[in-house]
Amino acid sequence: MKCVICDGSNFEIITNQLRNDIKRNIVRCNKCKIISLENPEKNVVDYTKLEYRQKYTAIVNEESSPKEFFDLQMNSEILEIGSSTGHFLESIKNSVSKVVGVELDPNHAKFARDFCNLEILEKPLEKIDFKNKKFDVIFMFQVFEHIQQPLQLLEKCKKILKPNGTIYVEVPNIDDVLFSIYESESFKKRYFRSPHVYYYSKNTIEKMFNKAGFNGVAKTIQEYSVFNHINWILTQNPQKSQIEGYASLNWKHNTSNFHTENQVLKKWFEKINTEYKEILEKNNIAEHVVFRAKTDS
Ligand SMILES: [Zn+2]
Repeated sequence: MKCVICDGSNFEIITNQLRNDIKRNIVRCNKCKIISLENPEKNVVDYTKLEYRQKYTAIVNEESSPKEFFDLQMNSEILEIGSSTGHFLESIKNSVSKVVGVELDPNHAKFARDFCNLEILEKPLEKIDFKNKKFDVIFMFQVFEHIQQPLQLLEKCKKILKPNGTIYVEVPNIDDVLFSIYESESFKKRYFRSPHVYYYSKNTIEKMFNKAGFNGVAKTIQEYSVFNHINWILTQNPQKSQIEGYASLNWKHNTSNFHTENQVLKKWFEKINTEYKEILEKNNIAEHVVFRAKTDS
């Protein structure tokens, strides 16, 4: 096996077990540190069996609208690779001039067409003939880690981006604090799963994109709360749902007794949650890595 980024051939095995007791090696290149399934190009993916990708995330739900967050213009033409059921495109379609999705899961593609009236292409990006059509922004949320031949995909992205176009990618962060610092065994067991071919950090996603000719920077973003992480540390188990995991600590307090004390405590918990997220993001150990680059003007 040869490393896709640095051509190196020395790899260290990180684990030999994926989620659901699947036996496959996950390896790290000793030179550039990229982590992947062993022989990533040989991975066989059944797109109809992928777990539902939760994409309508807190990033999109934050007070700033997606339009402002992603710096979209009224005349922007947008392509989302891995558009799933169309949530994201649906949320921005009225703020831009055109949205197109690429989605390989036929059920998700159909849903996006039937219920959101979106234009969805159901082929791998490399096989789509866009003629001379080009886009202002390409988005990939929790998709790039599934791509077996990332350099080929990025090559195609370059061809279909307009000058001064933007590529915006979000992937899980392999340097997530649960993994890199708390070393949670149960988190690790759930983390590695066969549809994920590459496991990126801030550092390695920048290397991958630089290799493909995109010069940009990555940063990490934390959505799960500090309370979710404390729960992991104490119980070695995830919370019941993503909504719970994102929530601030809350309790019912309906009487007027202890009103001031209640407010003080709530504020304090909110403060530590905010500070915790800031620490993780500053140190690039938050849960998602986002990478953004522009093509030449
Ligand atoms: Zn390498």
